[in-house]
Amino acid sequence: MRITFVTSNEHKAREAAGILAGLAEIEHVSMDIPELRYDSIAEIAAGKAAYAFSVLKRPVITDDTGLFIPALNGFPGTCAAYVQKTIGNAGILTLMAGFANRSATFETGIAYYDGVRQKVCTGTIDGKIVVPRGCSGFGYDPVFEVDGVTLAEMTEEEKNRISHRAIGLHALRDWLAEELRRDQA
Ligand code: IMP
Repeated sequence: MRITFVTSNEHKAREAAGILAGLAEIEHVSMDIPELRYDSIAEIAAGKAAYAFSVLKRPVITDDTGLFIPALNGFPGTCAAYVQKTIGNAGILTLMAGFANRSATFETGIAYYDGVRQKVCTGTIDGKIVVPRGCSGFGYDPVFEVDGVTLAEMTEEEKNRISHRAIGLHALRDWLAEELRRDQA
């Protein structure tokens, strides 16, 4: 089957194509999708899928990611994109100056919608906010460290083995495989 991954971020489309290979052919369409404001990543991802389907009228996958920092009472949470665009990684580090608790969690919601079937799978990864290191990846990767290595110090393959998005995509893959099996039975 063919699914359109709707995102303006080509890293994400590549990651999805790799994980869903053999089950679905992933076409990438770059579109800025208006984000509805919810406290839940899953609801935001599902809202994006409904919007993308209403425009493209074919099976779509969309995603949404939040960054939750306990020392900042969960900030930036579901506003991670806005905060990255405005104060960026330098601003996050300034806000965290003096905090001993550096823990942070990424959560991604991966949403599928084809006009009939609707599913959202989530994935999380725990890490620490550190001074930037590494130059691969995007967004918060240089300041998000997992087991002593920032996501920006990992190759794309290494990151895709452990990332919040990979966990969500693998869960979606399992669900989709089961749905396709049922269709064929
Ligand atoms: P979005 O909802 O996927 O747009 O993500 C929200 C914000 O988090 C954006 O600023 C992204 O650049 C950033 N982001 C999303 N996924 C990742 C990731 O895997 N690593 C680092 N930053 C990310």
